Amino acid sequence: MSYIVYEVRDRVALVTINRPDAGNAQNAALLEELDGRFSQAVSDEDVRVIVLRTEGKHFSTGHDIAPAVLEQEPWKSMFDDVSQTGLLRMYDWESQHYFGYSRRWRDIPKPTIASVQGACVAAGLMLCWPMDLIVAADDARFCDPVARMGIGGVEYQGHAWEWGARKAKEMLFTAGWMGAEEAHRLGMVNRIVPRAELDEATFALASQIAQMPPHAMRMAKRAVNATLDAQGMHSALDFAFQTHSLGHANAWATHGQVTTAGLAEMAQANRKGE
Ligand code: ZN
Repeated sequence: MSYIVYEVRDRVALVTINRPDAGNAQNAALLEELDGRFSQAVSDEDVRVIVLRTEGKHFSTGHDIAPAVLEQEPWKSMFDDVSQTGLLRMYDWESQHYFGYSRRWRDIPKPTIASVQGACVAAGLMLCWPMDLIVAADDARFCDPVARMGIGGVEYQGHAWEWGARKAKEMLFTAGWMGAEEAHRLGMVNRIVPRAELDEATFALASQIAQMPPHAMRMAKRAVNATLDAQGMHSALDFAFQTHSLGHANAWATHGQVTTAGLAEMAQANRKGE
């Protein structure tokens, strides 16, 4: 089963997550396929810009953590083994698939643009934040409600880098929603366009960048990302992922499961994008 539609048009790779019935929730297979498509776009010399978009009403409602999903692989054997290995297998898995992918995608050596509509919840942020630019539809809205699960935030904690420290704390403390306008004002979103014009506007921006010298784009991107890392982004994200993992361990120790009892409720709310 394929979750990603991949197309190259006029030197722009359009990478589309196509799981609208599940609010583009991310399961293991989807993430692995997405990572493969990003690698394909990087290897393809005809591709100069990569657009990440999704089908349907909502950009992404986060990781697929519905109880039925957690009863399947890769989760099942991880949970079955907890008495032997503790949560180390889960830690390794999240290190690679959640935290690791997002961090790697931030440094894809080509310009990347996220095209965001509707709800972008929790790990939805881990898809759009690593991209270089974000074009948002006027109905886009953002939320990290992971604190409700007893954990400080998603695996890739870009909040302070994207919103500034004070707003990041407010969002994490309240698990509230941020609309496209505010995200734009805070510098997280580059442009807001009417929902009906999102694809066209994103593609026009990508096409404009595709005209620029590709090596210069790579160097410009590396310079900006190196600036963020010199300010401490790399090590701060690393630190935050370790405390995120401590949250999982604590939930397991106190509730005997990877998250708190509110997990099913949250997964359902995510699906609806509420
Ligand atoms: Zn986690």
